[in-house]
Amino acid sequence: MIRENVIQLDHDNIMATYGKLDLVPEEGHGATLTDKNGKSYIDFTSGIGVNIFGWNDEGWKNAVIDQVNRYQHVSNYFYCDKASELASMIAEKTGLCNMFFGNSGAEANEGAIKLARKYSFDKYGEGRSTIVTLNKSFHGRTITTLKATGQDVFHQYFFPFTEGFKYCDAGDIDALTTACTKDVCAVMLEVVQGEGGVNILSADYLKAVEALCNDRDILLIVDEVQTGIGRCGKFFGYMNAGITPDIVTTAKGLGGGLPIGTFIAGEKCAKTLGASMHGSTFGANPVSCAAACNVVSRITDEFLAEVNAKGAYIREKIAALGSDKVKEVRGIGMMTGIAVTVSPKDILHDAFDNGLLVLTAGSDVVRLLPPLTITYEEIDRGIEILAKVL
Ligand SMILES: *Cc1c(COP(=O)(O)O)cnc(C)c1O
Repeated sequence: MIRENVIQLDHDNIMATYGKLDLVPEEGHGATLTDKNGKSYIDFTSGIGVNIFGWNDEGWKNAVIDQVNRYQHVSNYFYCDKASELASMIAEKTGLCNMFFGNSGAEANEGAIKLARKYSFDKYGEGRSTIVTLNKSFHGRTITTLKATGQDVFHQYFFPFTEGFKYCDAGDIDALTTACTKDVCAVMLEVVQGEGGVNILSADYLKAVEALCNDRDILLIVDEVQTGIGRCGKFFGYMNAGITPDIVTTAKGLGGGLPIGTFIAGEKCAKTLGASMHGSTFGANPVSCAAACNVVSRITDEFLAEVNAKGAYIREKIAALGSDKVKEVRGIGMMTGIAVTVSPKDILHDAFDNGLLVLTAGSDVVRLLPPLTITYEEIDRGIEILAKVL
């Protein structure tokens, strides 16, 4: 199909919920995408932190093909070797014990919320179901996860939202201590707020949150949908702070490009959900699990050292540009935010016209989430374009 047809049929038939850029991909290799016009783009987005090995990764592709050749789906009333293998690998890497596989980040967070409320109900009965989340957070697009998201713009149109959420500012432990009243069963946060502006929560704050939660038997839910699976230079971002959450959710990078998400329970709530209390028809899809097995098995210490080195290299190079449009370059691992004095959307469009894909976050941040396997040569080409744009 030619490019113009693709765009026309999209406009005619697909809901206009995304502001799309004028790109129709033909194929990708590594961190380089070619469109139907033959124009190439350097990718500093990985989708949105999804294609962590970039495009056309040999090992990942073979893992998917091998599974497709065996079988694509069985229901969750049967066992699946790839789901078992994946769960055991994640358990080994995290020390957390029990997990549930779904298909997306929002779904993982929904599951985490159910798990926390059930844990509290079992132990304390009704009336202890409130979850505290942080301002500028992002937790998903379902009716419940929109309400969990600490940004008013997401609390419009779709009333009534799920009850039982309150919010406080990231980094303010006193505010959180006050917010954690007797009706609170959980605190949910991202260790780096991705959509909210690449806001890094300090290790001191996270340790204080952990201590507060432990003290009051409030479950700490860490949303690692964006920060997980090596993105922040550790298997999970919270590991940089040395804390142990009670529940961890993840999705985006887990399948390396196929849909899969999970919520993972620590010891306290590992046995909280029993038969018929949660489910998903597509959850633990064998092809997604096979892809995720390939992903997780390759997130080794050596791999993570490379991620950290490349992330630091990107931030140094951007800071060294000395652009007066740049207020701050911040980040961790391969997650970078460039706070800018101009509209980040303008930068995004300018970069796009010059052959570089970037993301934005919050109102004043250009966000970079390159494939974790991006080469230094591709990084340099991307930075060259950024230099021109900034
Ligand atoms: C993307 C994201 C989600 C939502 O994930 P979906 O797969 O789009 O449902 C939730 N939390 C965080 C932190 C995210 O970045």
